[in-house]
Amino acid sequence: MERVYNFSAGPAALPEPVLERAKAEMLDYGSSGMSVMEMSHRSNAFVEIASRAEANLRNLLKIGEDYYVLFLQGGATAQFSAFPMNLVSPEDSIDYVSTGSWSQKAIAECSKYCHANVIASSIETGFDRIPEEDDWNMDSNSQFVHICSNETIGGVQFKEFPSLDKILIADMSSELLSRQININDFGLIYAGAQKNIGPAGLTIVIVRKDLCSKARPETPAVFNYGAQAEADSMLNTPPTYSWYLAGLVFEWLLELGGLDAVEKINNEKAQKLYDAIQASDFYDSPVDPRYRSTMNVPFKLKDESLDDAFLKEAEQVGLTNLKGHRSVGGMRASIYNGVPPGAVYALLDFMKEFEAKYG
Ligand code: PMP
Repeated sequence: MERVYNFSAGPAALPEPVLERAKAEMLDYGSSGMSVMEMSHRSNAFVEIASRAEANLRNLLKIGEDYYVLFLQGGATAQFSAFPMNLVSPEDSIDYVSTGSWSQKAIAECSKYCHANVIASSIETGFDRIPEEDDWNMDSNSQFVHICSNETIGGVQFKEFPSLDKILIADMSSELLSRQININDFGLIYAGAQKNIGPAGLTIVIVRKDLCSKARPETPAVFNYGAQAEADSMLNTPPTYSWYLAGLVFEWLLELGGLDAVEKINNEKAQKLYDAIQASDFYDSPVDPRYRSTMNVPFKLKDESLDDAFLKEAEQVGLTNLKGHRSVGGMRASIYNGVPPGAVYALLDFMKEFEAKYG
């Protein structure tokens, strides 16, 4: 068996020790005689898996008792409409800072449920940066500001979070658990699991309890934060296997030393890649250096006619999923927690050799 270095943006590489453990536990979880996939979500064994995962996630992110942690389905995309339904009335507005494709998708979806008010956007510079906070138009009467803390396609990331008089909502799909954050800066954080958390099918929602009493009556029960919290995220059958695997990822992170330790590794991985791109006349980064993502590293070959050869030859040496999103072209290396430093070194070696050959 030969595993490749997988730079996929999501679903993405999972830590190998996690996959090994899942493999070992596959046929007979904890002497239950069955796989976690085959268990009732109401069984003692699964309820224990679920609550341990929640406790470990709370521990990793230092989430206080004033927040609910929900394990839902529907992806981050379902949250684009779930949070307006839970938090505001149709006549209210939510402010948005638009920094790329995922911000735009969130804005479009929110517009169906209330006013989505764009207070700042970097569209004019091709979404290559976070708009300066001083330029945000804070005059609206909205209580909430939504950001996408890491734009997976554009590779643009908030390095610090704004401190506002409004309640901050963040789509952290492509960066949650990659660094330590202060949960108390946010009213609501949501993330699809399939990058740093676990397999697709699970969505994490971390929401301040006091925000959960205003859901519109028509809010689907499965997306009603208060109702799901009341039911321990088991109002209906939850994505049990993804939840279990996320739990294994949380244990792996704790064993690594928690989020401070993983942040250090992630910063080193990203820095090495950006340094090499910066130092070369052959490659180029489209992102303002102040906001370059540690998770998704888009880069271009200055001679785009070499793109296909780059991807083909990378594939031949086991470096896969490096093609940039179809909307922006070029390359993108997604280097989530599950992508080991060795993958980045292998990519750097390949980039150097490719440049020597064609540069
Ligand atoms: N937000 C961001 C930042 C994402 O990267 C993605 C998925 N790539 C989404 C939202 C949508 O997530 P899902 O496919 O889980 O709905």
